[in-house]
Amino acid sequence: MNAEELREATAALCDSVERFCKSEIAPHVSAWDAAGEFPRKLYQRAAGLGLLGLGYPEELGGTSAPYALRMPVWRTLCRHGASGGVQASLFSHNIALPLVVALGSDAVKREVIPPVLAGEQIAALGITEPGGGSDVAALKTTARREGDEYVIDGEKIFITSGMRADWFTLAVRTDPDNKGAGGISLIVVTGDAAGLSRTRLDKMGWLSSDTAHLRFDGVRVPARYLLGREGAGFKAIMGNFNGERLGLAAGAIGFAEACFDEALAWARQRTAFGQPLTQHQVIRHKLVDVRQRICASGAWLDAVAARADAGDMGPDWVAEVCTLKNQATQTMQFCADAGVQILGGMGYMRGTVCERIYREVKVVTIGGGTEEIMKELAAKQWGF
Ligand SMILES: Cc1cc2nc3c(=O)[nH]c(=O)nc-3n(C[C@H](O)[C@H](O)[C@H](O)COP(=O)(O)OP(=O)(O)OC[C@H]3O[C@@H](n4cnc5c(N)ncnc54)[C@H](O)[C@@H]3O)c2cc1C
Repeated sequence: MNAEELREATAALCDSVERFCKSEIAPHVSAWDAAGEFPRKLYQRAAGLGLLGLGYPEELGGTSAPYALRMPVWRTLCRHGASGGVQASLFSHNIALPLVVALGSDAVKREVIPPVLAGEQIAALGITEPGGGSDVAALKTTARREGDEYVIDGEKIFITSGMRADWFTLAVRTDPDNKGAGGISLIVVTGDAAGLSRTRLDKMGWLSSDTAHLRFDGVRVPARYLLGREGAGFKAIMGNFNGERLGLAAGAIGFAEACFDEALAWARQRTAFGQPLTQHQVIRHKLVDVRQRICASGAWLDAVAARADAGDMGPDWVAEVCTLKNQATQTMQFCADAGVQILGGMGYMRGTVCERIYREVKVVTIGGGTEEIMKELAAKQWGF
């Protein structure tokens, strides 16, 4: 695809994503938040539009797509769907499946991936444990080999789509003698495995996304579900975080735009002291500050996507992705705060986009690696 074809394909797909969001997501988001979940059929609708399979191999039911296409699509989804809960669960496979694509055997890939990309099954990623999420190398859940099986014992927490997932990509310790990164492996677990129990967790935001605490009590899985070789999990998990962080950055910019859209429309029609809010300099300057940050973060996102597509993932790649994630999530924070302020009391009311996003912004500065850990990784790679 040349640059012109890519631009046209991206514009066409973003256009259908916008229409999909406006008709099938945005009108229902408040009701889904109140219900604590969205209908499973939404997965099939998203799959029908090709959204679940974007960036996956065609032989597994996906469509190859460069970052330069995927990032604007992701941004559009968040801008017009305006629900972090829907985005997190509808696309939880995007943090779980790349590890299966990269490390699974052909048979495991064929078993796990096509039904998820078709929207028939749900995939989730289980790394974080009650004992900690930032220090991945310290995880405690064990998988011990017994004949043709692994037996898993331990706990995972804050797992997105954890209540509904049919498949988990799970980080486990296969070498009990190695308490560090070298003892960690990745394995696939089915949602109906005996010995797996799930408890729903209540949250500040992302209300329509199911988040779970998982317990594994002697859960047996076939040894062929091991992804890659024993002990190779940590490096793969770290690599996988880059994709997750790029997606989170694109989403954060989309949510910032959703706040901007609502705040601008409100400021144009709401009057105070006899004139529209936009006629008050403080308010229109606030809108400019919002737009300025969205433009800056969006331009950086485009540049990083172009780097990824060019295969230019040199020695500063992790630092670039981590700081972009912080830039984008801080942009979202700024815009959500400004949006609520511009809406005044209405911005504090359930049902407005700014109110929802204001509650949802905190999690993106924590999930996929906290703001502090992003800075640590960047400082290390930049050699400060
Ligand atoms: C809604 C939600 C959904 C999530 N979904 C998933 C999921 O699907 N799968 C999954 O595996 N995980 C998921 N997570 C977990 C998330 O990735 C972790 O919460 C995150 O990595 C932080 O881990 P923690 O909560 O254990 O905090 P901790 O690691 O205990 O950190 C606590 C605080 O200490 C700071 N800190 C820790 N170490 C350092 C350091 N070296 N220097 C400076 N500060 C430090 C952190 O930045 C943070 O502010 C989800 C979390 C939430 C809230």
